[in-house]
Amino acid sequence: MADDARFETRAIHVGQTPDESTGATVVPVYQTTTFTQEAIGKHRGFEYSRGANPTRQALEQALASLEGGRFGLAYASGMAAIHGVMMLLRAGDHVVVCDDLYGGSYRLFTTLMPDFGVRFSFVDATRPEEIEKAVESNTKMLWMESPTNPMLRLIDLAACGDIAKRHGLQLVVDNTFATPYLQNPLELGAHIIVHSTTKYIGGHSDVIGGAVVVDDGETAERLGTSRNTTGGVPGPWDVWLTMRGAKTLAIRMRAHESNANRIAEFMTNRPEVTQVHYPGLSSHPGHALAKSQMRGFGGVVTIDLAGGAAAAHALCGATKYFALTEGLGGVESQIGYPWRMSHGASPPDEKLSKGITEGTVRLSVGIEHVDDLCADLAQALESGAA
Ligand code: PLP
Repeated sequence: MADDARFETRAIHVGQTPDESTGATVVPVYQTTTFTQEAIGKHRGFEYSRGANPTRQALEQALASLEGGRFGLAYASGMAAIHGVMMLLRAGDHVVVCDDLYGGSYRLFTTLMPDFGVRFSFVDATRPEEIEKAVESNTKMLWMESPTNPMLRLIDLAACGDIAKRHGLQLVVDNTFATPYLQNPLELGAHIIVHSTTKYIGGHSDVIGGAVVVDDGETAERLGTSRNTTGGVPGPWDVWLTMRGAKTLAIRMRAHESNANRIAEFMTNRPEVTQVHYPGLSSHPGHALAKSQMRGFGGVVTIDLAGGAAAAHALCGATKYFALTEGLGGVESQIGYPWRMSHGASPPDEKLSKGITEGTVRLSVGIEHVDDLCADLAQALESGAA
């Protein structure tokens, strides 16, 4: 399938041509560990499913195309993908990381990787000069997330790309929140894209997965070898579910975003809410940057409640359609309390320095009817005030 087709078409067709042996329209679940060889060393490109599996390969080709890279690698989870990228580093290497980071990545970078001699400097990456100041002679990588979780701050990825180029570094972008539908960091100078496909790409809160996309053949080769050596591959059913989700990514993201815009506006008019963090609002400090480096603003809205912890607990306990979860990116709306949940392991001072308070609530806006979602939030906010 032509890789120059539009996003929606590539999501459905790249890597997913009808099965050659049976004509099956949908890529089959190749639930097999091994592939029978005609003679020793004579096979059709598949030997053992840890190394390569046809269902997985279909997803990898589709995701690579959606991100605009030549190579995709699927992993058992987003964290397995992130760990896979870490395996490109060696003892003595140094990485500059944005300080508003997914908690699991923070844990990997602060507890496990230092034991292997890799060091990390956490910086306020919304100010590119802070990134450049932190670069050392042994820095090998810049690690960025934009928009960030949960405060939805914007990092200038093209500026990061320039810094990476000037210093000969690899720029890694965790593109989970934006998805390839809204942002393609490879076009902005990134070298490695990471995804938790568990979120919007899978999109139905029913399958854990991760992916890496790169354009450079040598990096792809190194990642593939280390993944085959360490074994963090997803099973065929999981990649099949992820691929089914990815087919509808574009229409889901449009629905998430349209609902999120409405809910962000709705929240700005509520007396219980002191601040709404959503890049689609013109008052958001990253609004102009989001407009220039993204094709939309995404489906997550974070709010600060005047009533602090008590109001947040009341809201999280009173919604009918917003499920209280650690997750995001599913078709169903989800509500989370970063202070105790996604960022529960960070010390209070650190949370406060990122703007996360005891009154902060994160909404992953689903694709239900937006009037039902607004009504649900209204009744839940009012129950907290009562
Ligand atoms: N990156 C981001 C931005 C995430 O939000 C998450 C999970 O929430 C991960 C990575 C880790 O992904 P997984 O849970 O699939 O291991």
